[in-house]
Amino acid sequence: MCSDTDLDKESLYKGILSPVSSLKGVGKVITRELQKRGVQTVYDLLYILPRSYQDRREFIPIHKIKSGEAALIRGTIMEIKRLRFRYRPVLEMLVGNEHGIISAKWIGATQYLYRFKKGDNITLYGRFRAFPTKMLETYHPEIIDDGNEYEIGRVSPVYPEIGGISQRRIRRIMMDAINRFIPNFEDPLPAMIRKAQWLLELGVAIKEVHFPSKSRLEDLHIRRSPAQRRLIFDEFFMLQLALALKRSKTSRQRGIAFEIQGIQALYDFLPFKLTGSQASVIYEIITDMSRPFPMNRLLQGDVGCGKTAVAFMAAWMAVRNGYQVAFMAPTQLLAEQHYLSTLELTRNMNLRVALLTSGMNNFADEVRDRVKKGTIDILIGTHALIQESVKFGRLGLVIIDEQHRFGVAQRAILKQKGTRPDVLTMTATPIPRTLGLTLYGDLDISVIDELPPGRKPIQTKLFHERDRGKVYEILREEIEKGRQAYIVYPLIEESGKMDLKDATNMAGKLRDIFPDFHIALIHGKMSLDQREGIMEKFKEGSTDILVSTTVIEVGINIINATIMVIENAERFGLSQIHQLRGRVGRSVYPSKCLLLASYRNSASAKKRLGIIEKTTDGFRISEEDLAIRGPGEFLGERQSGFYQFRVANIMRDVEILSEARKEAFRLVEHDPGLAHRTYNLLRQMFTGSHSGIDEFVSVA
Ligand code: ADP
Ligand code: MG
Repeated sequence: MCSDTDLDKESLYKGILSPVSSLKGVGKVITRELQKRGVQTVYDLLYILPRSYQDRREFIPIHKIKSGEAALIRGTIMEIKRLRFRYRPVLEMLVGNEHGIISAKWIGATQYLYRFKKGDNITLYGRFRAFPTKMLETYHPEIIDDGNEYEIGRVSPVYPEIGGISQRRIRRIMMDAINRFIPNFEDPLPAMIRKAQWLLELGVAIKEVHFPSKSRLEDLHIRRSPAQRRLIFDEFFMLQLALALKRSKTSRQRGIAFEIQGIQALYDFLPFKLTGSQASVIYEIITDMSRPFPMNRLLQGDVGCGKTAVAFMAAWMAVRNGYQVAFMAPTQLLAEQHYLSTLELTRNMNLRVALLTSGMNNFADEVRDRVKKGTIDILIGTHALIQESVKFGRLGLVIIDEQHRFGVAQRAILKQKGTRPDVLTMTATPIPRTLGLTLYGDLDISVIDELPPGRKPIQTKLFHERDRGKVYEILREEIEKGRQAYIVYPLIEESGKMDLKDATNMAGKLRDIFPDFHIALIHGKMSLDQREGIMEKFKEGSTDILVSTTVIEVGINIINATIMVIENAERFGLSQIHQLRGRVGRSVYPSKCLLLASYRNSASAKKRLGIIEKTTDGFRISEEDLAIRGPGEFLGERQSGFYQFRVANIMRDVEILSEARKEAFRLVEHDPGLAHRTYNLLRQMFTGSHSGIDEFVSVA
């Protein structure tokens, strides 16, 4: 006997999850092409949505066609000519009706065309061009078969390119899928939400998106037809529902309830007074840590706002409670920096801190051993921390710096080295609200929005390559005042070698230009000892100019360095530049950041860099960055788990996102188990093996 749920599962999945090959006209070749695009089932196929639409509702009289416009025409073939163009066959047809004659040409004409002959009637859809002395011309117009209801007299979908399958073919397959599977398709979205949000039924929406009958063309083009809105809503809703469920689940799991203690002592030890923002964030964090559930919190704050100190306080409390702390950073230098500053902060405290990176073979065994025995309190390191050989005696808190630079799996592995430890992740890339909601919907967020006192704003100025001389003048002035300078070659990882060469050459050139200054070079290929030596000299002031690759992006804090020149600024993301320049502006002296760029070929580079000139607001910058580069690039390749939306666009569809989020969280709040029968389908989707939802919730 089938249980109730099995029956429901049947109704939802029957058909729509059949393999694409069950559709008419989908043979081996097409199946293979579709699979290459990740399409296995009919359901996947239906989510390949049109990238645009063609207006084929009416035939356009030839004399009314404007140059550059697309039109549907019908006429008689007056003449067929076979020509050649660069050794390729060209077929030209002159097609006419009572409104005039046009010329249609196909280069590299296929066999298919040769079945037409003079006198045949033909229907064409194409983009036309008019030349003053010639007739209207169209290249490669689509020939539309007669009597084809979904090709003519309607708004017709244009699909993304799929392995050379013709548009006509895709349309036919889609139509078949819709006709066969949509009528019995049950909508998983509860009617209540549909009503509240004025949403079409899912089946209707899918059909309408592929073969619009009621939608306005203008709406379709801007992805705002009711059908599109429904699909966008769905995508956000499902993600938000997954996040809400995950959050409600973790918040019911048993975690460590740390006892709040030692805070006063810590305040006494800290070498500075916390900013108001730091203090309130610490309050949030330790309160969260004291709850008997696992903490899952993201700490956001601009470069230099003092996140490390906050993280350190959380670590301190965990240690006081008898637990160990793992602190993972994405780069060796950053890990080293955290290690050094933790040593400094803990100088007078009784804390056992160790560093573990892959570059330190000598001590690694000993460190691992002590971590396992529990005689290390705080272990700071890189990816080396997630190696299997690293075992903790009693891991209670995981801190991950620059969390977006780690993959989902890496973060999970570290977490699993303890028993539901608290997790504090940090990022200096301020995440625009919209992205935060989609990515971190199941996280609690703390924000530090204040810099430690006494920092002067950084004056940023953009210079074109040809004004390099001016940049050098400003540099000289600043150094003659007794300040120090960074010159940065931002490093693109794949081309690391070339950047290194650039930086090395530049150091040489600068020595000629500024023979009276001390110039040093630092880069990631140097050993830790070498780098420390160089940094030490820079810190004590015996080096005037430090030429570097982006190794200084992280962790370096030298108050007397008040000017930074960024070379090839056009090659980098705004947020990255913003982070870089955070290395100056750390003192009472006013600081400068000079961007050198060549933007001859790109007006947008100039515009983009203009933003960084005007604002120092990290959030504003990240919004712009996101808008310009899109979420994938913005977050970097490493955000491997980042959920790719099929229809939705987090920049364009913010409002729909917040509605979907509201509904999803409300639903889970009322019914965390989705137990009510109106949620049957949703429940299956989120518990069934087909859901794929684990993939997108694991992002955060
Ligand atoms: P972030 O990690 O957020 O970029 P850091 O924690 O590295 O920032 O802090 C940057 C610098 O500011 C460090 O040198 C740190 O010692 C210092 N700092 C942090 N908090 C304060 C504060 N409240 N007052 C003064 N200096 C601070
Ligand atoms: Mg930091």
